[in-house]
Amino acid sequence: MTERIKVAVAGHRGRVGSVLVAAFQSEPNIDFVGGIGRGDDLAAFLHEKRPQALVDFTRPSEAVHNALAGVAAGASPVIGTTGLSASDIDKLETACQAKRLGGIVAPNFAVGAVLMMHLADIAAPHFDAVEIIEMHHAAKLDAPSGTALSTARRVAARRKGKSFEYRKSEKETLPGTRGGEEGGVAVHSVRLPGFVADQEVIFGLPGQTLTIAHRTTSREAYVPGVLLAIRKVTSEPRFYRGLDQLLGLSVD
Ligand code: NAP
Repeated sequence: MTERIKVAVAGHRGRVGSVLVAAFQSEPNIDFVGGIGRGDDLAAFLHEKRPQALVDFTRPSEAVHNALAGVAAGASPVIGTTGLSASDIDKLETACQAKRLGGIVAPNFAVGAVLMMHLADIAAPHFDAVEIIEMHHAAKLDAPSGTALSTARRVAARRKGKSFEYRKSEKETLPGTRGGEEGGVAVHSVRLPGFVADQEVIFGLPGQTLTIAHRTTSREAYVPGVLLAIRKVTSEPRFYRGLDQLLGLSVD
C-alpha cells in the first residue's frame, strides 16, 4: 500500500478550502492533519502536525507568509491563492530549492480550464479573430477574470507578430457592448448567480467558428488538480508555476 501523505489546508473554512477538506477526508492516500484559519498559531500547528504538503487558498499576502513558514517546517507549498507577485513566487521557489522540497503555485487548478487554454493556444495561429466570454458567480470582485486575461494574452502571443482583428462597432449604441480589449481579443464578463466559473473562447474565420468552452459546475473542479499536485510535489523536489507545467503541456 502507498504511504499516506500528511496534508494541511490554510483557509479550510473558505469556499474552496472547505471543499478540499471534505475531499481529502475521503481520499485513501491522504492523511488530512488539520486546517489553519485566520488568527491560528501557524508555527505551533506546523511543529505539532508536521504536514508534508500545505495547501493554501487564502489571500495573497497570507499565502506567501504561510508557505514560507511551511517550507521552513518541511511542508511543500501547494498554492491556489491568486494574486501573488512574480517576486513572491521567485522567493518561494528559492526557499523550496534550499530545502530540496517540491512546490507549486497555480492560478487555476481546474484541469479542464488549463486544457481549454492549451487548446486555445493551439488554435490561435489558425484564426484571425477571437473573442472570450467569461461567466462567474455574482460575488466575484474583479472583471475580467484572471483566467480570461491570461487566455487573451496567451493567444495573442501565439500570433507571432500578426495581431488578431478586433472589430469595434462603428457606433456602440450601448457603451461597453463590444467588451474590453486585450491584444486584439475582445473580452466579455458576465456576473450572475448560478455560475461558478465558465469561459468560452470563440475563434472566427469566414464561414466557420470554433468554440472552446469550459464549465465549472462546482468547486469540486479543483480537487483532482490539487490532489495531483500534492502527489507530485511531495515525491520530487521540483517547483511548478501552473498546473500546465505539471501536466507537461507545451505547444512549442
Ligand atoms: P474565501 O472563501 O474568502 O476563503 C478564504 C479563506 O482564507 C477564508 O476561510 C479565510 O478565513 C482564510 N484566511 C484569511 N486570512 C487568513 C490567514 N491569515 N490565515 C489563514 N487563513 C486565512 O475565498 P475562496 O473563494 O476560497 O478563494 C481563496 C483564494 O483562492 C483566492 O485567492 C481565489 O482567487 C483563489 N482561487 C484559486 C483557484 C485556483 O484554481 N487556483 C480557484 C478558486 C479560487 P476566514 O474564514 O476566517 O475569513
